[in-house]
Amino acid sequence: MAGPVEVEKLLSGFPGRADRGFFGWSNVYLLKGERLALFDTGFYTDRAELLIELEKRSIAPGDIDMVILSHLHYDHCINLALIPGAEVLLSPRELEYARGECREKGDIYIVDYPDSLLAGRTLRLAEEGTLVMDGVVLMETPGHTPGCISAVAETPDGPVVLAGDAIKNGWEVMNNTPTMAFVGIDMARKSMKRILDTGGIIIPGHDRAFVYRNGGLEYLEELGVVLEVREDPSGPPKKYRIP
Ligand SMILES: [Zn+2]
Repeated sequence: MAGPVEVEKLLSGFPGRADRGFFGWSNVYLLKGERLALFDTGFYTDRAELLIELEKRSIAPGDIDMVILSHLHYDHCINLALIPGAEVLLSPRELEYARGECREKGDIYIVDYPDSLLAGRTLRLAEEGTLVMDGVVLMETPGHTPGCISAVAETPDGPVVLAGDAIKNGWEVMNNTPTMAFVGIDMARKSMKRILDTGGIIIPGHDRAFVYRNGGLEYLEELGVVLEVREDPSGPPKKYRIP
């Protein structure tokens, strides 16, 4: 595999929730090589920011050649609609799961109308070893869902693994406990181990980038999330920074 490819964060994943529910903030990354690819697309609440982040880089949504969907949970795939014309890389197993089997598993997070989301798209089979572009290859990492796909990019900093929800956060790694393993925890653990064994920089689905070495996990960035709350009707919003 040649390269290198640049891997750039557009939206930060967040390993938290509120008492009224899950934020749905997943990592969204840009892969810049011989082609331009997006790894996941975020949730509805990310829409404006996703477009702003692209615009900051002078990238029009139509400039993106392809979108890799790690899986079909709403918080990773729903903004595909904002990226017109891009080829979509998706596991066929995931699509099959999303068309009905997910309900039997009690997986309420799969996007409701997968075929509508994908209507008119050129779909490209995403499976073990698929070469996305020079320097980016896919891994099958099932467990969270049956068709979870991770991407390994050869970058100037070494291999970077975009794990999707095969690893959601650092806690799952340190406790060897992948949560929400709809296919079973043994398979989810196996996929997590495969990702960690690459020895690369890991971008989990909902947390900071990290490296995992000798049983220890080192984050490479801060969360740096600022929550703005309009507590005072006459003043500016109060800001809470989560480091
Ligand atoms: Zn998920």
